[in-house]
Amino acid sequence: LGRRINAAVSDLTRSANLDEKAFDDMIKEICSALLSADVNVKLVGQLRKSIRAQVSFKDLPTHTNKKRIIQKAVFDQLVALVDPHAEPFKPRKGKPNVIMFVGLQGAGKTTTCTKLARHYQTRGFKACLVCADTFRAGAFDQLKQNATRAKIPFYGNLTQTDPAVVALEGVTRFKKERFEIIIVDTSGRHRQEADLFNEMVQIQKAVQPDQTIMVLDATIGQQAEAQSKAFKETADFGSIIITKTDGSASGGGAISAVAATHTPIVFIGTGEHMLDLEKFQPRTFISRLLGMGDMAGLVEHVQSLKLDQKDTMKHIQEGIFTVRDLRDQIQNMMKMGPLSKMAGMIPGLSNMMEGMNDEDGTMKMKRMIYICDSMTDKELDSDGKLFINEPARMTRVAHGSGTSVREVEDLLSQQRMMAGMVKKMGGMQKNMKNAQGAL
Ligand code: GDP
Ligand code: MG
Repeated sequence: LGRRINAAVSDLTRSANLDEKAFDDMIKEICSALLSADVNVKLVGQLRKSIRAQVSFKDLPTHTNKKRIIQKAVFDQLVALVDPHAEPFKPRKGKPNVIMFVGLQGAGKTTTCTKLARHYQTRGFKACLVCADTFRAGAFDQLKQNATRAKIPFYGNLTQTDPAVVALEGVTRFKKERFEIIIVDTSGRHRQEADLFNEMVQIQKAVQPDQTIMVLDATIGQQAEAQSKAFKETADFGSIIITKTDGSASGGGAISAVAATHTPIVFIGTGEHMLDLEKFQPRTFISRLLGMGDMAGLVEHVQSLKLDQKDTMKHIQEGIFTVRDLRDQIQNMMKMGPLSKMAGMIPGLSNMMEGMNDEDGTMKMKRMIYICDSMTDKELDSDGKLFINEPARMTRVAHGSGTSVREVEDLLSQQRMMAGMVKKMGGMQKNMKNAQGAL
């Protein structure tokens, strides 16, 4: 999507005669890109109007950077669309906050309620989970497994078939035990069925949640509008969590859901792991949607590593990346985890760690550190070329670290790849700063 929109804008700025017709064509192209990213048809129509209202082609002074102005208009309009102008729910300490999850089957409710309980737990709330999914066999086991792994107390009752009864049992018990965040997981259906809606209403009546959260799968695309509207009418929810934003979905559906229900997105799910939950940030979300995100994420990541490696930051700004920089980078990644996600953000590391679980990946990183620690300072602070010129160095390092020459080679090719990327990034970072200035 980002590429298509940028291409449309570039076409305009490249075309010799910047006339109003070219400007119209560009808006059309942007709108069709948004449509194919599952942004709702009506919304695209509105967007088109407001871009026209915001950017009057005739009035643009000849010397302005038209591309920037148009990009900014598109960006601002999309950000405005995901901003519901409503304050999201904030749980209060020292009292029970009952949060109920609703959504279709497979949307990610059970996964996300553990993520959310954990989120609040790490922020000092006493959090717990209640399984009110009596519909799907195995639902309780799934919740129990997740909750146990996250060390979060949970409640379920396999002998009770009425979900409203189980929900109330759990909530009552946890209220007595002075829990502050009580999250009720409910069942879903494959479709919006009367059964599901009745059940939701029954549970809502029984537990009187302080907040109902609708979980919406980012991959459902154009159905997002109808689905969120249907849920809103029955189980009036106060916030939305969008899951599976790590996949290939374009996220346009999320925009439609907010616009249709005037309800804020509070979090997004970015993976299957318990830690893959991020606060929703409209500007970041839209940047990603427009394809401006990966680079920003990477720069952010590198910046977050600066804590104990000012040198690497300085190097990166200069477009340099030494073997030692790679070593520090690996060390920091091991600290930051979860590994699979961090590695995924860094091209090269993602293929290197492909098919490995966190344990294998950590082992591999440890071996890479051993390799680095068998190098001389001169080797560590080099760009790695001296190894290629003198392969005997690789053999020495492999012996010294108890690894293989192959592993040393892998590490060096990793460093070369990063060095190439950092060199490019030096330039891109400057561009990004300019672009942000323009936005
Ligand atoms: P429920 O039926 O609504 O309770 O959905 P589940 O929580 O059981 O999730 C359905 C599937 O989606 C599971 O395989 C989850 O691991 C997966 N899932 C949930 N959230 C995410 C996410 O943010 N990213 C990815 N990639 N998968 C997710
Ligand atoms: Mg479930």
